[in-house]
Amino acid sequence: MKLFAIFGDPVAHSRSPLMHNSVFKNLNYKACYTRIHLQDGSKLKETFLSLKLSGANITVPHKEAAYAACDEVRGFAKKVGVVNTIVNENGRLIGYNTDADGFMFAIKEFGDVKNILILGAGGTAKALASKFIDSGIKVSVMNRSDSRLSYFKELGCECFNWDNFEIKKYDLVLNSTSAGLKDKEFPAPLALIEQILNNTSFVAEVIYGKITPFLKLAKEKNITCKDGADMLLAQGILANELFVNSELKSDDIEHYMSKSFTL
Ligand code: NDP
Repeated sequence: MKLFAIFGDPVAHSRSPLMHNSVFKNLNYKACYTRIHLQDGSKLKETFLSLKLSGANITVPHKEAAYAACDEVRGFAKKVGVVNTIVNENGRLIGYNTDADGFMFAIKEFGDVKNILILGAGGTAKALASKFIDSGIKVSVMNRSDSRLSYFKELGCECFNWDNFEIKKYDLVLNSTSAGLKDKEFPAPLALIEQILNNTSFVAEVIYGKITPFLKLAKEKNITCKDGADMLLAQGILANELFVNSELKSDDIEHYMSKSFTL
């Protein structure tokens, strides 16, 4: 029996166990997927190895620590320094990033987006900003603190904190902060959020499974919005494909993972 897990803090809200176990159970794949509440990201590797995990997903706030924990990082994760999926290859931790492709899939329905404002500058924002720039999209980033903005400046994004933000028109505003996991929390002061929402065509939120205050306000303003559920599903399918390494058919993985969303 193979064991997989998601590491995070908080992690109780994660739907990943439901999604991956739905695939394993329905396709008779001898594996089980669980949650691990990890506070100290520097303990990720020793925890992974001591539990003899075959693979893992990593969520807030450990995606950059996960990059550092890997023995080898492949593909897009190597470029951005952010890992959300780890596969155990003969005792070596191999890191990947499936978030960015998952999000690109999720926003397809918004059509031709040319100009995005990202709220937040964490691991998820890094991966998404880099993917957007690669796709020819103009990216602005606003974060509450300055320390994490240097990465985005080097990437060619326009960068702001809450004090020096200058309002412009955006096609899409994306909340990539973890504000909203707690009730009543907005990703920036409310006056700023009001101004931003009044100047965008679409809104996306990476948090799923609840209407965050940010999403609620966007809906009240009749803006076309979506939460993080489609992104979660798409990144999960890509991660599961890496976990089972071609032993299951992609169409079957997609079918049973999508089905878990209707449970
Ligand atoms: P990180 O911890 O790397 O980054 C968090 C970011 O949020 C930082 O920019 C931080 O600002 C900001 N932040 C945290 N709390 C607040 C607050 N109260 N007000 C304003 N800003 C705040 O997290 P990740 O990037 O890994 O994840 C972010 C979110 O994305 C999580 O909620 C995660 O669950 C979700 N997610 C969802 C996915 C999906 O499939 N739907 C996939 C990936 C992520 P500062 O730099 O100042 O600390």
